[in-house]
Amino acid sequence: MKSAKPKICVVGSLMTDLVFRVERLPQPGESMPGKEFGLFLGGKGFNQALACHRLGAEVTMVGRVGRDYFAGLFLQKLAEEGMRADFIFQDDEVGTGVACPIIDDSGQNAIIGIGRANMRIDLSQVEAAREEIESADVLMLQFEIPYPVSRRAAQIAKASGAIVLLDPAPIHNAGVLISEEVDFIVPNEIEARALAQSQPVELWAEAEVKAGRSGVVISLGAEGALVFDQQGRRQFPAFPVQPVDSTGAGDAFRAGLAVSLAEGKGIDQSVRFANACGALACTVLGAEPSMPRRDRVERFLREQEAA
Ligand code: ADP
Repeated sequence: MKSAKPKICVVGSLMTDLVFRVERLPQPGESMPGKEFGLFLGGKGFNQALACHRLGAEVTMVGRVGRDYFAGLFLQKLAEEGMRADFIFQDDEVGTGVACPIIDDSGQNAIIGIGRANMRIDLSQVEAAREEIESADVLMLQFEIPYPVSRRAAQIAKASGAIVLLDPAPIHNAGVLISEEVDFIVPNEIEARALAQSQPVELWAEAEVKAGRSGVVISLGAEGALVFDQQGRRQFPAFPVQPVDSTGAGDAFRAGLAVSLAEGKGIDQSVRFANACGALACTVLGAEPSMPRRDRVERFLREQEAA
């Protein structure tokens, strides 16, 4: 750790989710009544930043929102949580990112997402946050903002000895090779398969490590997580919980991994901690509400050890 508290910088997205629950997905041209509506704050960047904060890290979020109602909700939430917002830029021309998931009774969904202000984060914002990135123990990146911005942040982080962790999601944005500055690639199973392309996932992950990557950690939902590094391949089972809603589990898992690595813990211990964060997130409805706090995770781990 570079200072007393683990320090994490997230350069990523803030998206408002407008969630519609419907009996069945609408047909083209059809107007139909829905059953329920919910407005949630999200975006992989925001969720992971919030989760790291609740897990006890000092967090700087670098992002971009509009000057609209949704931006106000984010700024209010960050203030409520005691998080800084001074590197979240408000765009005068383009509004806050939005997504509209439509979910039917069988759980099937259709999602429209528009990055809006997220797609306008630029290199000058990264430069403005240079000191924050340089003093971070871990930099967290995802694929919801322009690639050159993530790449620049990764270069600055790497040059100052930070660990760079990439969540390669959403995977359809993976149009470019994952840069050499990334230390840990942390995909889920689907993303890992997409990154591996035609080769088996294990061969791809092993090749990444052979080429100098610190590690590949694949989250496997209820199966836990798979680690590939210099020590070889290890699977860490998930903790048994009664899942209510797995939304946010992936973000909680990645935040747990980042915070533990920022504290200087080894990868095995960090993946165990991450599995606990992911499992707890499954027991609460929604994304933001399900990001667990540090004391809850530690109590959960003690209970699991005792059992
Ligand atoms: P993503 O949302 O990125 O696809 P996963 O579904 O792989 O993420 O879940 C992330 C992590 O959350 C898993 O690695 C695991 O630690 C935890 N998790 C997910 N589902 C369960 C479950 N049913 N029981 C226990 N832990 C779970």
